[in-house]
Amino acid sequence: MILGILGLQGDFYAHKKMGEKLGIETIIVRSPEDFEKIDGLIIPGGESTTITKLLSRYNLIKSLKKFHKEGKPIFGTCAGMILLAKKIDNHPDQFSFGFIDISVKRNAYGRQIESFEEDVSIPIIGKNPFRTVFIRAPKISRMGKSVESLAKHNSDHILAREGNILVGSFHPELTEDTRIYEYFLEMVKRTKP
Ligand code: GLN
Repeated sequence: MILGILGLQGDFYAHKKMGEKLGIETIIVRSPEDFEKIDGLIIPGGESTTITKLLSRYNLIKSLKKFHKEGKPIFGTCAGMILLAKKIDNHPDQFSFGFIDISVKRNAYGRQIESFEEDVSIPIIGKNPFRTVFIRAPKISRMGKSVESLAKHNSDHILAREGNILVGSFHPELTEDTRIYEYFLEMVKRTKP
C-alpha cells in the first residue's frame, strides 16, 4: 500500500512523517503520474484558495477526480476538507470538488490568533481523548443524510465520513498520535483488491 500526500502547499511533510511512523510507504503527490502509484490520498491543511490555484497549475484536478471515481479513499484536513466539500457558505464561488455532501464555513473559529488545541473524544479510534489542533479552521455547517459524524467539539461536527471520503477540521499531523491515520489506512486497505 502506498499513501500519497498532496504536496503543493501547507504542512504536507508532517503528514508524510506520520505515515512513515506507521511503517507505510508514503509519497508526495505533485504530478498526474503520481496518482497512478498511490492507494489513498491526504489533502493537507494550508490555504484552500492557494491549493486550488496550484492544483490547476500542476494539472491535477482531472487526476484527482479520476482517483475519486475509482473509489480510492481521500482524507482532507482543514483546507483539505474545504476542497472536498460540496459547498463553501461564505465563499460560494470558490472551487471545491464536492466529493462529500457537506457545507463548510471557512475561518469559522476566527483568525490565526484564535487558533487553539483541545482534547476531544473520538470513539472510532478508542477510549483515550485525541488532542485536536484548530488553525483558522473551517466549520461544517451542514451535513447530508449519507454523511456520518465521527466526532464533535461542543456542538460542531469536526470529523466526518461519507463512503471513502474522510474530512476533519483540525490538524492531526501536529500531534504524536497516529490513531486517525490508522483509521484512514484501514479504509485504504479495504479498498485495495
Ligand atoms: N483558513 C484556511 C482556508 O480557509 C484553512 C486553514 C488550515 O488549513 N489550517 O483555506
